[in-house]
Amino acid sequence: MLGLMQHQSLLVSSLIEHAALNHPQAEIVSRTSEGPVHRTSYGEVARRAAQMANVLTRLGVQQGDRIGTLAWNGYRHMELYYAVSGMGAVLHTINPRLFKEQIEYIVNHAEDQYLFFDIGFAALVAELAPQLPTVKAFVAMTDRAHMPQVDIPRLQCYEELIEGGAPAFAWPELDENTAASLCYTSGTTGHPKGVLYSHRSIVLHSMSACSVDSLALSGADSALVVVPMFHVNAWGMPYAGAMCGAKLVLPGPSLDGKSIYELMRDERVTMALGVPTVWLMLFRHVDTEGLEPRRELCLRSCVIGGSAAAVSMIERFEQDFGATVMHAWGMTEMSPLGTVCKLLPKHEALPLEARRKIQAKQGRNPFGVTMKITDDDGHTLPRDGKAFGHLLVKGPWVVASYFRGEGGDQLDENGYFDTGDVATIDPDGYMHITDRAKDVIKSGGEWISSIDLENAAVGHPAVAEAAVIGIAHPKWQERPLLVVVRKAGHEVTREDLLTYLAERVAKWWLPDDVAFVEELPHTATGKLQKMKLREQFRDYSLPA
Ligand code: ADP
Repeated sequence: MLGLMQHQSLLVSSLIEHAALNHPQAEIVSRTSEGPVHRTSYGEVARRAAQMANVLTRLGVQQGDRIGTLAWNGYRHMELYYAVSGMGAVLHTINPRLFKEQIEYIVNHAEDQYLFFDIGFAALVAELAPQLPTVKAFVAMTDRAHMPQVDIPRLQCYEELIEGGAPAFAWPELDENTAASLCYTSGTTGHPKGVLYSHRSIVLHSMSACSVDSLALSGADSALVVVPMFHVNAWGMPYAGAMCGAKLVLPGPSLDGKSIYELMRDERVTMALGVPTVWLMLFRHVDTEGLEPRRELCLRSCVIGGSAAAVSMIERFEQDFGATVMHAWGMTEMSPLGTVCKLLPKHEALPLEARRKIQAKQGRNPFGVTMKITDDDGHTLPRDGKAFGHLLVKGPWVVASYFRGEGGDQLDENGYFDTGDVATIDPDGYMHITDRAKDVIKSGGEWISSIDLENAAVGHPAVAEAAVIGIAHPKWQERPLLVVVRKAGHEVTREDLLTYLAERVAKWWLPDDVAFVEELPHTATGKLQKMKLREQFRDYSLPA
C-alpha cells in the first residue's frame, strides 16, 4: 500500500524559491574581485538567477549541458549555482588552483558549453581558450567597466548578458535524480574524476547541514564561507544558506589572515568554515597585530575540515576567540558531509584533556551517512575505538560512480564506497581518522598514524606546521620522519621536539629524525602534499 502524501521532487530551484519567499532580505555579502565589498540578498539572487536562466535558455543551453565556472566565492557565482542547476543544466565548478593541464583536461572531459570566470583568472582563460573546443563563449563575471584587457576569443560580459534576461523564470519540474552540479576530485594520482551531484542529494545534504546536531546552520547565523565554492560546493553552504536564511559572507579572492579577520569583525560573523591552513594564516595575523578576537569578534563556532584539526587549533579558537570548534570530515565524493564532532552531555563532566581528545576526533555520522571500518580482507572491524581499518561509507549523498563511468562501479557488494581513509570508530560512533591509506606509516607490521604525530608536533609553541612521512628502513620497513616549519622568530632543535613528542606519543611512534624546512608543499585544496614531500625526501637516510 502506498502512502497518500504529495510527491514533490527535491530540487535546487525549490531552495532559492523558498529563500525568496521566506528570507528575501537575508544578506549575501561578497568581497569582490573588483575590490569593494558588495551586498545583496536572497531575494535579489533569486531574481538575477531567473534572469540568467533566461539568458542561458536564449543562448541555447539545454538540460544536462555542463556550464563551467572558474570563480571565487561571490554573489555572481551564487547566482550561477541557482540559474544553471535550476534550469536543469549542470554547474561545473572548476578549481583554479589545479595545474593548467588538469583544468584543460576537466573542461574537455566535462564538455563545458560556456565558461564563466572571475576577472582574476582572465590570463589563465586566455591561455587555455584555444585548447577548449566545446566552449561556445567565455563570460567574464564583471561589468563593462572591469572587462579584462586580454585577448580571449568569444568573450562576453556577465552584467551585460544578465541585463537582457527577464526577471522571472518557470523553473522546470525535474526528476529529483537529475544531475545538478559537477565537481572533480583533485586527483593526487591519475586524472581528476568527476563527482556528479543530483538535486536530491544536494537538498538532502542541505537539510543535514541545517540540523542542530550536524552543522546547525541557521537563520540566526552570519556564516563566513572560506571554503571555496569550487571545492565541493563550499561544503554545501550556498544551498543550506538558502534553506535556512543564514547571512552568507563570501570572501572572494582574499583569503589572507587580515582580510578574513576584517570580514569576521565587520560582518559580525557567528560561524566560519574552512580548512586548517586558512586558520593558521588567521592566527598569524592575530599574533603579528596583537589583536583581541574574543573582544572584537562574535564568532560562536568554527567548522574545520578538509584536514585534521589539531588540538592546539581547537584550544586556540576556544580560548582566544570564544568559539567552539566543530571538527568535520568528508570528501568531494560525499557532498562532502560525512561526520561532525560535537560533545555529548555525558562528556561535559570529563576533565579538559579527555574532552579535547574527543573533539580532535572527526565525529559522528549525521542521519543519512552510515560508515564502517574493515580489514584488508573486507571483514568489518569492531567499533571499539581501537581497531583501525579502511573507512567505508554509504548514503544518499555519497557517490555511486564517477562521471562517465571513470574507474567503474565504486561500491562494494553491500553498497559501500571506500573513502581511502583509515580510521577507528568508538562505541558512541565517533570516528577518528588515523591516516590516508597511502600515507599511513607501516613499521614492523604495525601502523603509525602520520596525522596523530603531526597534530602532536604542532602543539609545540615553536612549530608552525608539521608533516610526517615514512622513510624506507632496512629492519622496520618504514620509519617516521618529522618535517617541520618553525614559527618566525622561534628556535627549536631536533632534540627539543623529540623530547616534547616522547611525552605525547607511544615510544615506538617517535620519529627517527626531524628535518627543518622553510615551507611544506600543499595541494590545490590546502592539504599537505605528501606525495611531493616523499619525492623531496626520497634519498633521505635516517640516522642509524
Ligand atoms: P581533495 O582535497 O582531493 O579534493 P577532498 O577534499 O574530497 O579531496 O578530500 C577528502 C579527504 O580529506 C578525506 O578522504 C580525508 O583524507 C581528508 N579529510 C577531510 N576532512 C578531514 C578531517 N577532518 N580530518 C582528517 N582528514 C580529513
